Amino acid sequence: MNVEKFTPHIKDVGGIPVARLLPQSKRRTVGAWCFLDHIGPVEFGEGDKGLQVGAHPHINLQTFTWMIEGEMWHQDSLGYRQLVSPKQVNLMTAGTGDNRGISHTEQTPDHVKSTHAVQLWIALPLHKEIEPNFEHYPELPEWSENGVDYILTTGTYDNHTAPTSQHSPLMCVDIRFQTAQTLEVSAKAGWEYGVFVISGDVEAGGLACAPEEMVVLAECADDDVVRIKADAGTHVLLIGGEPLPHKTIFWWNFVGDDVESLRKGVDDWNNHHSRFGDIDLTGSTLTRLVAPEAPEHIR
Ligand code: MN
Repeated sequence: MNVEKFTPHIKDVGGIPVARLLPQSKRRTVGAWCFLDHIGPVEFGEGDKGLQVGAHPHINLQTFTWMIEGEMWHQDSLGYRQLVSPKQVNLMTAGTGDNRGISHTEQTPDHVKSTHAVQLWIALPLHKEIEPNFEHYPELPEWSENGVDYILTTGTYDNHTAPTSQHSPLMCVDIRFQTAQTLEVSAKAGWEYGVFVISGDVEAGGLACAPEEMVVLAECADDDVVRIKADAGTHVLLIGGEPLPHKTIFWWNFVGDDVESLRKGVDDWNNHHSRFGDIDLTGSTLTRLVAPEAPEHIR
């Protein structure tokens, strides 16, 4: 098992600072998880509208929004408009290939004065034909055991299984420690795991890890154990999954396995190609974002 710690890059997303843990230059993916933004926790002052992300496209990925505090509106080109509240997941699927895609907006509702969420992306297996889709999961498996509170957002953990649909083997569990202890999670052979610290201090895979840092455990064998030592009050997100059989490269809101598909995404979006549909922005303060031209080399 190979263990490595990563620190966040701070980015501005829709007007608020976020801590980005994935992708990293030396670690693009954890299983098929290819993007991790920690949003907040942040309080909005008078006149502060919170997160306001205008219409933008995605290809070859799913956006996975895990809401911890506050609420967020999602609106997409398939016609879905869905509020996501704490303990719920919004899962939007862009579909695979050069002829599929989706676009959406994300917006803090007017009445909401704080927000705390983790948004992840899941790279889709590009050898599969996957259609665009949107799913909302209002209720997920939630339980407490030995002073630890769990909410399973996708996949299987212990004897619990989430209803969340998947295109490659994945797992994501929200873990809150009510008492100090060491959790031992059996690794699956070939899987990769990430322990992301939302708050508190953790020792994961033997490495000390502060809030907004992530320990990644890769090249797992069958008898490996993901060991998470935490104080009372600690809150972590444990993600895991099987790596995809192809590479994942990134440009803007796009992922793919070659530069050409990313360039085509940029051109198609900026030329209003029908693969990304339309979102009615009448009466909205949101705008349609412009895709930046892809550079010569993307890795
Ligand atoms: Mn998005």
